[in-house]
Order: sequence, then C-alpha cells, then structure tokens
Amino acid sequence: MYVISRCLLGCNCKYNGGNNEAPEVISFCRNHSYVSVCPETAGGLPSPRPPAEKTGDRIIDKEGKDVTEAFVRGAEISLSECLSAAEAEGKKIEGAILKANSPSCGAGKIYDGTFSGTLTDGYGVFASKLAQLGIEVITEKEKIKW
Ligand code: SF4
Repeated sequence: MYVISRCLLGCNCKYNGGNNEAPEVISFCRNHSYVSVCPETAGGLPSPRPPAEKTGDRIIDKEGKDVTEAFVRGAEISLSECLSAAEAEGKKIEGAILKANSPSCGAGKIYDGTFSGTLTDGYGVFASKLAQLGIEVITEKEKIKW
C-alpha cells in the first residue's frame, strides 16, 4: 500500500482552496493500493487557509500565527489513518508519494520560512514521520519508482 498526498489526486484541500492534481500519480493509483491523506485538514485547518512554512522547529503561517500544534496533530492523525488502512488490508506501507516542498508533505526540500519561494533542505512534519518509520518518501516531481 502507498501513501498519497490527497491534493495530488485533485482534492481541493490545498491552502488556497485548490489542489495539486498530478496525472501520473492518479494513473499510479489506478494500479496500486493506496491511502490518501491531507495532514493539514486532518489537523483541523480549513481550506482555504493562510499559507504556512517551517521556521526552525515551528510552523508559522503568513499572518504570523504559530500553527505547529495543528500540523503535528494532523500528521499524527494521518499516520494513524495510514497504518490502520494498511492493517485492514493486511498490507505493509511500501512507500509514499507526497506533495513537494510542503511544510507537511515535502521531502528533501521544503520552503524556508521566508514566503519567498526559496527552498531549503528538510522534511515536512508528516513526511518526516513516515521517514522515521523507514518508509521511502518521494514527491510528485520525481519519477515514480514502484
Ligand atoms: S497537507 Fe499535504 S495533502 Fe494536504 S494540501 Fe498540503 S501538501 Fe496537500
């Protein structure tokens, strides 16, 4: 089973009320078992919402509000949903395709907290939880390897 960022499947859960539909990822999901999650809305944040970025170990939105708690709660809820979905089907989680650069889902590179489109090395809150469990995380910008 694979974990997919829900916005990549066309769900309007993105901060601006839109989505990040990725045809290759949708096509992948037609042939693989998957569970889709959106950690930010799982944490209780609405869509639309102000954009947020990681600054040190905190997540701060563009209006200056500290939304770390919602991000961490959403990541924990989403991880639990993924593990439950895999267990229900008697499968293990073989990998994840998550939205690049997001403060929740980004893997390898994320926005640097300046809201200027600048990237820095790092993982989003949810992506890092998967990585800590040894689950390989790629983004929609990479060639799907599975
Ligand atoms: S939290 Fe992840 S799934 Fe949800 S909108 Fe942001 S990038 Fe997409």
